[in-house]
Amino acid sequence: MTGKTHMMGGIAAATAVAYYYGFEPVTMAAAGTVGALLPDLCHTKSKIGRKFPLLSTLISSVFGHRTFTHSLLFLLIIYLIAKTYIPNDSLSVGLLIGMASHLLLDAGTVNGIKFLFPATIKVRLPFYVRTGSTGEQVVLAALTMVTCYYIAGFCGISIPIHF
Ligand SMILES: [Zn+2]
Repeated sequence: MTGKTHMMGGIAAATAVAYYYGFEPVTMAAAGTVGALLPDLCHTKSKIGRKFPLLSTLISSVFGHRTFTHSLLFLLIIYLIAKTYIPNDSLSVGLLIGMASHLLLDAGTVNGIKFLFPATIKVRLPFYVRTGSTGEQVVLAALTMVTCYYIAGFCGISIPIHF
């Protein structure tokens, strides 16, 4: 998926979790956006890869694309770091939710992800789209609607649809 879809995925997931579990929504959405971009550190041309070219080049040459940074192991490492160093729950949970949304979205693409890295098993959802395709546009539109639904919820506007 493209950076734009990942950002919207992170915002949608973080907003939904904030809504149901009572976290601070703006902080959580911001952290969700960062978390949603973090796994693509393995890609030097990604939004985050261009911000941290040295780290990104290092990760992509050591691990390759969509392996370590798209795995349960990486999620656990970030969880431990966040738990230890980030005192704000909306921030740390948002970061992890954003990352999880990234992995889920990439598992919904043709190449899937190596979720169980260092095992090389490819994990892919039963329904998947090609990055940059019309299918991805549909996913992006759906994520945008989910986000609007929960933002409306925070504003006290109830939309009679349930996710
Ligand atoms: Zn990715």
